[in-house]
Amino acid sequence: MPLIALCAGDGIGPEVAAEAVKVLKAVDAKHRIGFEFMEAPVGGGAYDLFGTPLPAESLAKAKKADAVFLGAVGGPKWEKLDYSVRPERGLLGLRSELDLYANIRPAKMFTPLIDASTLKREVVEGIDMVVIRELTGDIYFGKPRGVEKYEGGKRGVNTMVYTTPEIDRIARVAFEIARKRRKKVCSVDKANVLECTELWREVVTEVHKEYQDVELSHMYVDNAAMQMIRNPRQFDVVLTGNIFGDILSDEASMLTGSIGMLPSASLNGKKGMYEPIHGSAPDIAGKGIANPIASILSMAMMLDYTFDQKQAAREIEDAVARVLDKGFRTADIYSPGTAKVGTTEMGNLIIKEMQ
Ligand code: NAD
Repeated sequence: MPLIALCAGDGIGPEVAAEAVKVLKAVDAKHRIGFEFMEAPVGGGAYDLFGTPLPAESLAKAKKADAVFLGAVGGPKWEKLDYSVRPERGLLGLRSELDLYANIRPAKMFTPLIDASTLKREVVEGIDMVVIRELTGDIYFGKPRGVEKYEGGKRGVNTMVYTTPEIDRIARVAFEIARKRRKKVCSVDKANVLECTELWREVVTEVHKEYQDVELSHMYVDNAAMQMIRNPRQFDVVLTGNIFGDILSDEASMLTGSIGMLPSASLNGKKGMYEPIHGSAPDIAGKGIANPIASILSMAMMLDYTFDQKQAAREIEDAVARVLDKGFRTADIYSPGTAKVGTTEMGNLIIKEMQ
């Protein structure tokens, strides 16, 4: 039985997770995949109940499951807690315990939402890229790190570190994904000034020898940040390290409009954690107006990457596109002349379209 651990989380997390699960169950009823779900509390709510944002039982369930779905964690209630028990530690703990080294964030323009973008129509029309961000290495984990006393003042240190195997495995993920798309990988680094990313470029180029059907280009990160705004359609698969990917994937996602639309996957082979890219949105939690589409599309990614149910994944994506085509919008993507709907209604409309 395909097993899914459900970490609904805090704020709008449970609201959007409920719609995503509803959609997945509807897919399951049609395709008879036989999903089983296990609730695994993570985040601020888990801290309130168990004194830790990642209870051992939840971690065990996440390890046992084939895939994990996470709504969102965090909120003002827990902001004063010690860093070590903040809700976000639950999320980071899951990523590192499951060694989810490949973060995959598609940024695709849904034509009916073009006007929700802050950029001009002719720039954003047809955007369809995936940012592949290495997630378990780089400056966030490298040592030495910390702040120390230094010549009467202080000195802050973080260290950018990548090893050949770390670069090799993420490069393979990018080339494999590119093979199923437009067969173009742009590897982003700062090889002109950072030795660590010089190694990155060298290893990516070496791995590419096994993927000669895919076109490889290299770009410095400062240029990539600029090109993403200037001509985002040039990108198919963007491959990059943890810190550059952190920034570029947010930039790419905002090209296409609302944060409420964008799914993500963090993978280690077939095993993956799937989550919307947005947070717990405390400002709208409990109002029934959150956009569940990012979560619903995260379930489509789960069907695709972990369960190899391509047809079912496309059915969800097509249903989302048709609902938007028909003019239904949650508040975050609403524009005059369209029909405003709440979280639950959006979920229901997508299920209806699939049927
Ligand atoms: P956020 O993504 O929660 O919200 C930013 C803005 O986008 C808000 O105005 C919010 O209302 C809106 N928004 C977000 N998701 C939406 C949706 N689905 N539909 C409609 N509007 C949506 O970011 P934030 O306000 O910086 O963070 C709030 C909390 O979430 C913090 O505690 C933060 O640490 C946490 N956070 C968690 C994750 C995660 O769980 N993966 C990611 C980012 C932030």
